[in-house]
Amino acid sequence: MKSSESIIASLKAYEEILWINPHRRPAKQALDQIHSTYAQLPNLEGIKEADQRLKRFASLFKKLFPETERTDGIIESELRSLPVLKKSLVPAIGGRILGDWSVKLDSHLDIAGSVKARGGVYEVIQFAEKLALENGLITTEDDYAKLASEEARALFSRYTLVVGSTGNLGLSIGVMSKAIGFNVTVHMSKDAKAWKVALLREKGAQVILHEADYSVAVAEGRESAEKNPFAYFIDDENSITLFNGYAVAALRLRDQLTEKNIPVDETHPLFVYLPCGVGGAPGGIAYGLKLIYGDHVKIFFAEPTHAPCMLLGMATGKHEHISVGDIGVDNITDADGLAVGRPSGFVGKVIEPLIEGVYTVSDEKMYWMLNVLHLAEHIKLEPSALAGFVGPIWLLYKTQGFEFLKQSGLLEHMENAHHISWATGGGLVPADVMQAFIDKGQSIQVEF
Ligand SMILES: *Cc1c(COP(=O)(O)O)cnc(C)c1O
Repeated sequence: MKSSESIIASLKAYEEILWINPHRRPAKQALDQIHSTYAQLPNLEGIKEADQRLKRFASLFKKLFPETERTDGIIESELRSLPVLKKSLVPAIGGRILGDWSVKLDSHLDIAGSVKARGGVYEVIQFAEKLALENGLITTEDDYAKLASEEARALFSRYTLVVGSTGNLGLSIGVMSKAIGFNVTVHMSKDAKAWKVALLREKGAQVILHEADYSVAVAEGRESAEKNPFAYFIDDENSITLFNGYAVAALRLRDQLTEKNIPVDETHPLFVYLPCGVGGAPGGIAYGLKLIYGDHVKIFFAEPTHAPCMLLGMATGKHEHISVGDIGVDNITDADGLAVGRPSGFVGKVIEPLIEGVYTVSDEKMYWMLNVLHLAEHIKLEPSALAGFVGPIWLLYKTQGFEFLKQSGLLEHMENAHHISWATGGGLVPADVMQAFIDKGQSIQVEF
């Protein structure tokens, strides 16, 4: 096993690495340990309650977002098989991907076009429901379409939701909050993508741009909200509500796998690859999946070589007390959803015994994969979302991955494996920006 010094040396050199987590435990043991430390975390029942809460809001969603008519107000994404991608990669990687391969298209979730639609929308409606119940506007038995009334909007308009974001969380909270009638202030770093800022302002959100990076934007947001009793701060680094909203994905994925007759058991391992920024979205999804599938699901987080904050925090055991800047890594990446220099300490500690590993990917490879995926499967994603597509390759073609499979007794089951790359964003990217992504990907040569 690599020492943390040699891992730091690789991260400093911006190498693409696959780190197998030495702190991982059998799922049951890991979950017991997590629950004894974090009593406030939801169990499977708590995640089902979050799912029920989202369902209570379905009629309001249909009213506020006509595009959700199609799914009867349920915000959920498709699980789609990737046969052509799998074949297309053979010449580039000089070998095959073992097992089937699908993508979870959170990139095309309604309302926010990213994985943030899960956590962000959930925390906004949780707060709205609490206010509406406290003020006697509804009971949980009512049709929540009532919350589109003037009276409800007048109540919501007294409150301001505040969030610090690299972009997509701001979009999700901004769009949802404005639709329901809240005021919203989004703190972003100055390198936030121009179209995300413009879209938020168009929806009526106040956007404050900060000179410094994402962590500072979050801290500024937190501080400004503390001074205002009518402000509600959504804490990307520490919110259990956000985490719970993300975890609902696991219940939904289970239903989709069942529906498609995709088995997950001892001899049919499920591998899930989750792009990671601060950790909340992948953390919540990973947690939910381990509660459901235990040791039969193997989870890997994916980070840019220029912003490997979760890998650094976990490998050193320092979590939020170390940032990529501390080891001279620049946190400059076009994968803006993952451009985070310091991980969530809360999430890092929760997932420490739970996930199989973390790997890094260069920006070049994300762009290259963006183009290949578009050519092969006609799916358009933003760069961050491509981080999850390198996982099945690293697993088989990097020594650490191969050793892991061998030692875990998984090698002989890889023909039966199912890989899921989590496509975390891209649905709202303007057409000209998307074309520029594709052009850039087309111009890149990579080696595996
Ligand atoms: C936010 C985001 C992620 C990662 O979520 P975290 O909660 O920050 O770890 C991944 N991909 C995209 C596109 C995102 O916007």
